[in-house]
Formats: sequence, C-alpha cells, structure tokens
Amino acid sequence: MDAFANILWHHDKFLGITWNAWKIIGWLGNAAFFSRFFVQWYATEKLKRVVVPATFWWLSLAGSLLLLSYALFYQRDSVFIFAYAFTWLPYIRNLVIHHRHAAAHLECPQCGNSCPPQSNFCFDCGNKLADAVERARV
Ligand SMILES: [Zn+2]
Repeated sequence: MDAFANILWHHDKFLGITWNAWKIIGWLGNAAFFSRFFVQWYATEKLKRVVVPATFWWLSLAGSLLLLSYALFYQRDSVFIFAYAFTWLPYIRNLVIHHRHAAAHLECPQCGNSCPPQSNFCFDCGNKLADAVERARV
C-alpha cells in the first residue's frame, strides 16, 4: 500500500473514523447541512440578491433529522439531542410557506410566464393577468 492510501486507511479506520451504519447516517446529516450553504450561496450569486431556495430548507430538514436520529439512537447525549430536537419545526414551516407562495403565482395566459402573486400585469410580456381582471371586478 502506498503512503497516500495509508493516510486514508489506517488501523482499519478510514480518515481516522471507525465506521458503522450510525456513523454513515451522522456524516450524511453533516453533508446535508454543509451542502445547503453552497445551494444558498449559488442561488444568491445567480440572482444578485439574498435568496433562500426551497432546496436549502429540504437539506436543512434532512440534515437535522439525520443528526437527531444519530443523537437519539447512537450518541444518546442530552446536549446533542436537544440541539436538533426542534430545528425541524421552522424548516417545515418555511417549506409550507414556500409551497403556498409558489402555488399563489399567476400564470400568464399569453406567454405562460409565472408571475408573483398579486401581479396585475405579466412582467415579461405586459399582458393583463386574468386574476387582475377578476380582482378589478370585485
Ligand atoms: Zn406574459
């Protein structure tokens, strides 16, 4: 075995970690939490304004549930359990709000563009939106 392989695998440990199913679950939780920052950063750079995409909340939810199960069933440490016991609540709430906001978007009948809720005109083609016509009648 060469020197590099010796650094990765040493005394039956990969990266100095003794692996089991719970270690994989815990590290998947860490990976989900860590990757969400890149998702948020990418979305923000792309739109040139601070945005938090739904994927960020899905990764947060997955990470917190994986780490909570790791803490509950493997680590069994009260501090660690409490740290992840309630974090899933705002993640689910944000996903619900995200879904409602997306569902409230208006589709332009002329160009098919998805316009923000309460829009009167399509910001792409300028067509008056049907919902705006309905709202004007009431
Ligand atoms: Zn349009």
